[in-house]
Amino acid sequence: MLIDSHAHLEMEDFDRDRSEVIRRAGQAGVDLIITVGTTLNDCGKAVSLTRQYEAVYAAIGIHPHEVKDIDEKSYDNIKEMANADKVVAYGEIGLDFFRNLSPRDIQIRRFGEQLELASELELPIIIHDREAHKETLDMLRSWKGKPGVIHCFSGDDRMAHKCLDMGFYISIPGAITFGKSERLQEVVRQVPIARLLLETDAPYLTPHPYRGKRNEPAYVIHTARKVAEIKNLSLEDVAIITSRNSKIVFGIA
Ligand SMILES: [Zn+2]
Ligand SMILES: [Zn+2]
Repeated sequence: MLIDSHAHLEMEDFDRDRSEVIRRAGQAGVDLIITVGTTLNDCGKAVSLTRQYEAVYAAIGIHPHEVKDIDEKSYDNIKEMANADKVVAYGEIGLDFFRNLSPRDIQIRRFGEQLELASELELPIIIHDREAHKETLDMLRSWKGKPGVIHCFSGDDRMAHKCLDMGFYISIPGAITFGKSERLQEVVRQVPIARLLLETDAPYLTPHPYRGKRNEPAYVIHTARKVAEIKNLSLEDVAIITSRNSKIVFGIA
């Protein structure tokens, strides 16, 4: 059994063949997928997918790219959606200083507000951090809620240790299968398997050997294989342990 701890099944990239994609995941041994809404509209779609598919659970929150569109009503809508049964996390929230699709000062303000909302809702958080390691760590340090997961981890092993110390889990994306992934491989080597999660971030970040095509949850097996190789563990052990980790973080029975 495998868990894809982070995908975006609600995105229109999957409108044509969503049921097929979820069926293929099941056939590949991926029997649980956390789908992560990034806008209010997509959070609504994510929640309705959890009702349609047994294997699908949802995270809701506004992605740093999209926080420029937050208004007074946004947080009320999110609070309402958080009542649904299979909403298991708040996110993805954080900072993206690589693409800067929302201005930085707005990203920081909205990240702070959403951290507060996550604690109010008592949900674990899913953090997106791209080229904003220092600022992200600073904000997490001064916050007192349920830790969660740093998704698509892109820092080095020193940063990984800081995140572990704060109680976070580290989620490994398909990038680990690429030729040039020494830094991420070192992170996998150093972080105890009991603190690792696996993810696709589908439709993005497709692992080798499908690079260039749309990503989908079934491909998380390639990330699991690579982690098994680096950790010198069996694929089965990696699948069992990382799935258990996901269930612990997201409180899934
Ligand atoms: Zn992300
Ligand atoms: Zn994502």
